[in-house]
Amino acid sequence: MTAVQSSAEDRGGDLARKPRRRAVSGRPSLLAVYVPAVALLHLILTLTGLARTPLRLNDLLTFAALLACGAVCIEASRRLGMPAGVARDLLSSWWLPVALLLPPVYALLIPIPLQILLQFRVRQTLLYRRILVTSALGLSGACASVVFHLAVPDPLGSPQWVIDSYPGIPVAIGCAALFTVVNTALVAIAAHAANPESRWRDVLWNRESLLLDVVELCVGILVTITSALSPALLLLALPPVVLLQRSLMHQQLQAAARTDAKTGLLNAAAWQREADTELARAQRSHDPLALLLIDIDYFKRVNDTHGHLVGDQVLIGVASTLCSQLRDYDVVGRFGGEEFVVLLPGADTVEACRVAERLRGRVRRLAVPADEGTVGVTISVGVSLFRMHGEDLIELLAAADLALYRAKESGRDRVCLPAIDGPKPTDN
Ligand code: GH3
Ligand code: MG
Ligand code: MG
Repeated sequence: MTAVQSSAEDRGGDLARKPRRRAVSGRPSLLAVYVPAVALLHLILTLTGLARTPLRLNDLLTFAALLACGAVCIEASRRLGMPAGVARDLLSSWWLPVALLLPPVYALLIPIPLQILLQFRVRQTLLYRRILVTSALGLSGACASVVFHLAVPDPLGSPQWVIDSYPGIPVAIGCAALFTVVNTALVAIAAHAANPESRWRDVLWNRESLLLDVVELCVGILVTITSALSPALLLLALPPVVLLQRSLMHQQLQAAARTDAKTGLLNAAAWQREADTELARAQRSHDPLALLLIDIDYFKRVNDTHGHLVGDQVLIGVASTLCSQLRDYDVVGRFGGEEFVVLLPGADTVEACRVAERLRGRVRRLAVPADEGTVGVTISVGVSLFRMHGEDLIELLAAADLALYRAKESGRDRVCLPAIDGPKPTDN
């Protein structure tokens, strides 16, 4: 499962609170057309495949064995506990062999039961996201399957391609890569449509997710080879895959402990640690440094009017807008609720206010899909400057809080400094 899927499934257990409305209707036109189109294509191809593919006992048994292995992995991850943001589940170890060894219809079918299992046994996510992820996996698996079967006819019935190695194995690797590329592209288009402010770089790959994709593909190809030789060998493949999945999750759980699951930003504790380091650096280098405290205006109304799920999407949209507008070395965190905090190393008063204004302008342009059209929000920003308003983090936060209070008091949707005689609050 790719990083895009991870972001696509960031909605965590709090979805147990019942969504007030269905999620996909009213999304921006591209998303509202795209998700049903991908799902429809998946459905049509699956039905056509079912009608045209002759049933063979060997195919059915292999499919059932790989499906059972996938289900075991899901159950194992369920016991580990899988918080939002932890999404590398190594399931492609099971659907890749299905795609490569069995006729394409099986690749279209396998994500359906496994994603249903994930939805009900591990983590509930917005239905349209689950449907999109399922269809994307099905379609990408079918692409890989069609190409592989053109190069290696009947790969399960005559596994000579494994013994000969060439060209079967290189083609299998190529098809596995095709599977990942198509899947990532299908989900990334939706992720970008849902949040046009996000950078393509962020919704596609980063170095870490690319590495994990390579690991998943290698495991998938090894399981493919094993199952081609004898489906009974899957009994030997299952324990190491489950173990690998566990260690992979452990790594992700550690990363998750630093981040806010909903937005992917640093959580308050991690932000404070990183901010302390930056502050010490600014102290040594005598460089300026600024702190922005950002609060969404009238956020409670968004929840009250559109429900918590849409409220969460607004939080995610604001977080990703902030990230897209900041430099890599700015320290961005979610302080809790609808409050964010940004440390700007090297920024003086003018630069800090300029950045804060840019963030305010960008968030204003954000349009988060809801049932009835889109939701827009504004933010108020309190700015404080190292040395001018405080010598440590506590003093800087207190000063920014005061500035934020001024911004709220003077009408919201503005940037303020703490001092009454400082620059005037901005007009809208
Ligand atoms: P103000 O302009 O004064 O900041 O008004 P406000 O409505 O934004 O502020 P208030 O503090 O009254 O409300 C904040 C709301 O944020 C209340 C709370 O339910 C909601 N909230 C906090 N955390 C989350 C979350 O994770 N998801 C959602 N959907 N809502 C949240
Ligand atoms: Mg607020
Ligand atoms: Mg608040």
